[in-house]
Amino acid sequence: MRDLGKYAAEAQGNLKKLKIKYAENTEWKINTRAKTRLGVCKKTGDRYVIEIAAALLDESAAEGELKNTVMHELLHTCRGCMNHTGRWRELADRVNAACGLSVSRTTERDKAEIPDALAAKPKYRIVCTACGAVYERFRRSRLTDHPEMYKCGRCRGSLKKA
Ligand SMILES: [Zn+2]
Ligand SMILES: [Zn+2]
Repeated sequence: MRDLGKYAAEAQGNLKKLKIKYAENTEWKINTRAKTRLGVCKKTGDRYVIEIAAALLDESAAEGELKNTVMHELLHTCRGCMNHTGRWRELADRVNAACGLSVSRTTERDKAEIPDALAAKPKYRIVCTACGAVYERFRRSRLTDHPEMYKCGRCRGSLKKA
């Protein structure tokens, strides 16, 4: 298990070097339940809480992905940076160029970036009988119980349980 504090300190040190002001009172947490999201930054009052998926702290995960995610979330604590446009985006560009990172502008990462062995497998799979599109769901829902009542979002074909 990698030490989250070490990576957080490294990211903070990089921002200091670039004279980018981030929130000092941020709480860093490891999220062991996150299945599809690698990181998240929440604001409560004037405090920030950043959660990083435990999967990223596993030695088998790509270290670059961990660094990118830690920086992605830390940048959200900068003034005016709660979304992924405008100032956040400018800062991400600067940090990427200066630190050799590739902090991405997309929203929280998708499960494709969690190593397969660590990603939870969706319990439910629904397929389109026309185009073969697969819809995966972690939780039981009306869709998983009654796929025949729904249409494929891509081609409007009929759905069935895989
Ligand atoms: Zn984000
Ligand atoms: Zn379809």
